[in-house]
Order: sequence, then structure tokens, then C-alpha cells
Amino acid sequence: MQRIAVLTSGGDAPGMNAAIRAVVRKAIYHDLEVYGIERGYVGLIEGVFHKMDLGSVADVIQRGGTILHTARSKEFMQPEGRQKALENLRQRGINGLVVIGGDGSFRGALELHKLGFPVIGVPGTIDNDIYGTELTIGFDTAVNTVLEAINRIRDTATSHERTFLVEVMGRNSGWIALEAGLAGGAESILVPEIEPDYNEVVERLKRGIARGKRHSIILVAEGVESAYKVSDEIKTRIGLDTRVTVLGHIQRGGTPTALDRVIASKMGGLAVELLLQGESNLMTGIVGNKMVTVSLEEAVTIKKTLDLEAYNLAGILSI
Ligand code: ADP
Repeated sequence: MQRIAVLTSGGDAPGMNAAIRAVVRKAIYHDLEVYGIERGYVGLIEGVFHKMDLGSVADVIQRGGTILHTARSKEFMQPEGRQKALENLRQRGINGLVVIGGDGSFRGALELHKLGFPVIGVPGTIDNDIYGTELTIGFDTAVNTVLEAINRIRDTATSHERTFLVEVMGRNSGWIALEAGLAGGAESILVPEIEPDYNEVVERLKRGIARGKRHSIILVAEGVESAYKVSDEIKTRIGLDTRVTVLGHIQRGGTPTALDRVIASKMGGLAVELLLQGESNLMTGIVGNKMVTVSLEEAVTIKKTLDLEAYNLAGILSI
């Protein structure tokens, strides 16, 4: 192993830069040459590689987004595209690749592994929806961004004695809604993993109003339903005046939290070590505050389950 490359792919996440920095610096520490590939698999196919040095990753640990940029590539979904990518890597004498991204990116990484190229995955997605790790890079920052929004919304909700619906990211996964809801004391949390029970939402609101509660916050993961539709459901059932806030892409940006920087640094460092050990087809993860690995196959095929205990607890605490 003399030369490795790193790319970021799919949806960006705060902390990806800290992971790139860790890969680059750990590689250089071990006397490896390291290349950064622009725009994920697009740059891999087009051959947009930059040699990275210690300075290339200076002053990036605190920045959200990804300095390597990210993209989605249809061409990489085809065998011909992947063959081009493979040739670009081989031509440059690169013998290991670190892919920082979500499950889609790992499906691509797995295909490269199947072609005989050593690949290690580092989970970077705000959704925290990847099997084999308790945390993905960017999740903690996104939860804190939502929490800050909830705090602000709660101020105005209290002043005007209103019910607010806050729509957060999570098409297939309720992790952001669950953790931000638990931390922010949301009155109800709607997640895609659990069929929404509007009667229960309304009963909760009624119970709250009966004991003098004048404001409520309901978190809705985007995969459940549009928060506007949920708002209509509530209006038709109890005629309550509600307001809707869709947080959207602000959840993707921002300076990464300490936790995201720490896990990104550890995962990036471990990815390089794994390549040096001759490993491939692995994803780095954290379970019980310990570094672990899981095969890319498992990471992309096994569905990570939502923490139902935490979900039920959130329901009890916001009664
Ligand atoms: P994320 O990594 O955030 O889940 P995507 O699902 O958009 O993002 O995947 C990122 C890229 O990974 C895609 O644009 C595509 O190039 C590649 N990819 C996804 N699925 C596959 C697959 N089954 N085979 C090959 N490449 C894939």
C-alpha cells in the first residue's frame, strides 16, 4: 500500500471534512501518498484527482460541507462507468480507496470491492440510518441544529400560545426527529418507522390543554407526511390554530459539533489503518463508544432499527 485516495459521495454532512483531514494526515503519517477525488464517483470516472498534503486539510476541521465536493453519479451505476473508475485508480497506482458517504455510496463502494479494488467505507450522513454503527458523521450536528430551532420556536409558541409543527429531515428514518424531539421535549414525534396515529396526537394535545398547557411542538420526519398535511389533520379534528416550520437544508450545514469531529477523526484514522492491514469491504463504526467494523454488504442490506425504547420514553416524558 503506497498510494490511497479519498472521496465524499451522496448527501453531504457536517464532519465530512474532519474525516477527510483524518484520512489525509493518517496516510501521510504512514508515508503513504494520498489523493482527494472531486465530486465523489463523478470525479472518479472523470479522473479529477488532487494530490493532498498536510496543508490541503488545514483549517477544515471546523467547516461543514465537504472540501472535496459531492455529487451523485448515474454513470457509476453502470458497469462501464465503474470500469472507467477502476482504470483511473489503477493508472495512478492507487491501491486503496476511502469512501465517505451514506448507504448509496456504500453500494457503489461494494461494487468496486467486487471488482477486486480495496475499499473502506466511512459513514457520513445526517440521517444516522446505517446499520453497524450507533452514530454516523453529521447526525449529532443535525440534531443540535434542529434543537436550536425548537428552542427558538418554543419561545414564540409560548408567547402566542400556539401549536407548532416542525418538519425535519428523514425520508426513511426517524432518528433526527426522535433525538431532537427527546432533547427538545416535543409533545409528539412522528417517524416513518411507526404508522402515525393522529387520534393519539390529538388526545395528547387535548390532555395538555386540559392541564393548562398553552403551547406544543410536534416533530414530523419528512418521510411520514408533509407537516402541512399533519397540520390539516389536527385542524379538522380539533380546530386548533397551528403553525408549520419546514427546516429543510439548514439541517445539512453548519460547523460540526465536537462529537461529530471526534467520530469523524477516529473513523477516518481507522479507515487508513484498515487499508494498511490489507482489508477491504469494511465500514468503520462506533458501538458503545468503541471503534468497530462491519462488512459493506451488511451495512447496505441490514436495516438499522430505530431506538424504540427511546421513542416510548419520549412519549412518556411529554405526557
Ligand atoms: P448516499 O450515499 O448519501 O446514500 P446516494 O444514494 O445518492 O447517496 O448514492 C451516491 C452515489 O452512489 C450514487 O449517485 C451512485 O453513483 C452510487 N451508487 C448508489 N447505489 C449504487 C449501486 N447500487 N451501484 C453502484 N453505485 C451506486
